[in-house]
Amino acid sequence: MSISKIQSAEGFSRRRLIFNIGVLGAGLASVALAPAVARAGPSKLDQRSAAYQPTPKGKARCDNCTQWQAPDACKLVEGKISPAGWCVLYARKP
Ligand code: SF4
Repeated sequence: MSISKIQSAEGFSRRRLIFNIGVLGAGLASVALAPAVARAGPSKLDQRSAAYQPTPKGKARCDNCTQWQAPDACKLVEGKISPAGWCVLYARKP
């Protein structure tokens, strides 16, 4: 076997080993993080971070926002949300 063929075979093995270590690491990380993600549930922004206010901003109010979930929730912001509220994530319903 020539030196170039041996180097080529070693290079392939090294690449393959590094790839397999990466796949194994990603798998272990996902298994380790799964319980924490499950505990956290779907992530929503807290009201303070969204600059939520229980009053409308002009004509913009939660019950005409695409993220509104009647009777008192939002897809993006956690906690009880007033239909007359508003936050910086407001997006008017079409
Ligand atoms: S304005 Fe903000 S809090 Fe209200 S429904 Fe829209 S995204 Fe949610």
